[in-house]
Amino acid sequence: MTRVAIVGGGLGGLAAAAFLHQAGVPAVVYEQARELREVGAGIMVAPNAARMLRRLGVLGAFSQRAVQLGTGWEFRRWQDGTVLSAQDLTAKSARLYGEHTYTVHRADLLDVIKGAVPTDAVRLGKRLDDFSVSEAGVRLSFADGQRAEADVLIGADGIHSTIRAALTEPVPPTHSGMSAFRALVPAAAAPEFARRPAQAVWLGPGRHVVHYPVSGGELINMVAVTPAGDYVTESWTATATVAEFLAEFESWDDRLTSLIKAASTPGRWALLIRQPLPRWTWGPVTLLGDAAHPMLPFLGQGAAQAFEDAAVLASCLADGPADPGQALAALRVAAHRPREPRPAGQPRPRRLQPPARRPGAAGEGRGTPSRRPAGRQRVDVRPRSRQPELTRPGVSVCETRRLLT
Ligand SMILES: Cc1cc2nc3c(=O)[nH]c(=O)nc-3n(C[C@H](O)[C@H](O)[C@H](O)COP(=O)(O)OP(=O)(O)OC[C@H]3O[C@@H](n4cnc5c(N)ncnc54)[C@H](O)[C@@H]3O)c2cc1C
Repeated sequence: MTRVAIVGGGLGGLAAAAFLHQAGVPAVVYEQARELREVGAGIMVAPNAARMLRRLGVLGAFSQRAVQLGTGWEFRRWQDGTVLSAQDLTAKSARLYGEHTYTVHRADLLDVIKGAVPTDAVRLGKRLDDFSVSEAGVRLSFADGQRAEADVLIGADGIHSTIRAALTEPVPPTHSGMSAFRALVPAAAAPEFARRPAQAVWLGPGRHVVHYPVSGGELINMVAVTPAGDYVTESWTATATVAEFLAEFESWDDRLTSLIKAASTPGRWALLIRQPLPRWTWGPVTLLGDAAHPMLPFLGQGAAQAFEDAAVLASCLADGPADPGQALAALRVAAHRPREPRPAGQPRPRRLQPPARRPGAAGEGRGTPSRRPAGRQRVDVRPRSRQPELTRPGVSVCETRRLLT
């Protein structure tokens, strides 16, 4: 039986463990923190991510704690809140994409996925320091002096991945010139417009603010993208002050500034750009999620892509347990499934990385004006019924791979 070690117990690593256990492949997660927790407040769960949660059997538990959006991409003018355009997601999301669109607190999402992973498959307080690969497999060394062995190593250790750093040439990220403030507001302190099951995007000169309810509607999550200046810290735990947040939006509509004033201590994250890696797999070692393909947040797809990575990886390892190297090679084939028009040889998240860098990219669906310069690559926003047969709900990734190989 293939022994799988997953380094990183974030959304991607835990999803990988859950899919592997569901496929009958034992996997152990090694997480550096002493407890499993998510910081950074809210997250949008797009239909492709919700589909993965359904496959894990946790969509029911998830939807108890999430908010199902009735309205999405509600673009508002910065000075007066005029609605420029909006998408009615009540029935459309499920009709077009097979699932609803949700918003959720990250801690709730992590908790729900954790429910699909056996408790003894998670080892906490294990920071990977080093690893080596030999004929016998992979040897992991942790900061506490302990060691572990496995046949396959999955690096789900996030944007500052130790495993990626060991396998690739260091390429310093470039500055996008933008940063993201993130904050939560208790719903009781928020104006009525922010409490609706709606994702609103306020657009103004050089800045935008996204807000939506999370935690079953008890909290409102805000993400505001502003010029970064000389701010370069890229961390889930770095904080700012409400005054700094407010200063960015001084002359905006009063309703929006009142929401900012009610916020708890904001987080601040510098948005840095990393070029797509040419490969994610080296022998029995592979990368997943932000370790493989970190994206800027404008498509709201980073975690969704990590879930898809996890599902494909588990199906490949379940198919070829005798030869993990070959199973991971199959992973590269599966990642090339024809989900949307693509340049030859580029797997999907690598294709999503460039469009995910553009503010407002997520709003470039039907019914909203496109800001895409001529000749730029397009994300497939066609209704599912008009996408290739292989991507329809009900066709599993494993079947997809078989059809391709
Ligand atoms: C402002 C913002 C908004 C976003 N909004 C969305 C959204 O709406 N929808 C969406 O789908 N995505 C969104 N994303 C992206 C999403 O948050 C990430 O893509 C996702 O969290 C990546 O998950 P991961 O498991 O790959 O990495 P992480 O969540 O970073 O997890 C990595 C884990 O590895 C552990 N680790 C690190 N190093 C070691 C080590 N050496 N040893 C052991 N453990 C280690 C860490 O402690 C951590 O638990 C957003 C991102 C940002 C910045």
